[in-house]
Amino acid sequence: MTRQSLTLDDQLYDYLLSVSLREPPVMARLRAETAQRPGSGMQIAPEQGQFMSLLVELIGARLCLEVGTFTGYSALAVAHALPPDGQLICCDINAENAAVAERYWMEAGLADRIQLRLGRAADTLAELEREYPAGSFDFAFIDADKSPYDLYYETAFRLIRHGGLILLDNVLWSGRVADPSRNDPDTAALKALNSKLRDDDRVSLSLLPLGDGLTLLRKR
Ligand code: CA
Repeated sequence: MTRQSLTLDDQLYDYLLSVSLREPPVMARLRAETAQRPGSGMQIAPEQGQFMSLLVELIGARLCLEVGTFTGYSALAVAHALPPDGQLICCDINAENAAVAERYWMEAGLADRIQLRLGRAADTLAELEREYPAGSFDFAFIDADKSPYDLYYETAFRLIRHGGLILLDNVLWSGRVADPSRNDPDTAALKALNSKLRDDDRVSLSLLPLGDGLTLLRKR
């Protein structure tokens, strides 16, 4: 019996991938190109991408939001699982990374399902709140700068329908959130938000030790 999540050594992690990963070749190529770029650690793990695809399928999402797109891997994972008339709106501030993303979305034949909005996420989210009635979105993935995570969460919460899902990435922050001596702004913001969410009865939640920690929140 296992009382805690397993620590995956390389052998077991490779095994996990070998029996479960169904990564389309275009996504594998994007991952390989991203690995050569600065900030490559921001890329989500492939099994996390596949898990997100499954979630999108499970809830039958049609309108999705992503805050923090980087080179577009997670967006591809979401877009793959959308119906042909589904739509993913991506917020990012870095035009250079976004150009890589758009190239792969095109190559995957999914560019028509993904709309990129370049700019500060807080501004884009305010814009979306003017354009879309509250409760319009089915699914939101938040994976951007950490200090404003609570703002991103609250905005996504208003935009999401009841029964919709919000995912927050990096909530375990390489373990720094569990270290009482670490209180830099990003770590402090994540600590405060993690504690807040534990007691937030507007949502059901699960914090998964997947990748760098992924919290799933279902709006009640
Ligand atoms: Ca991340």
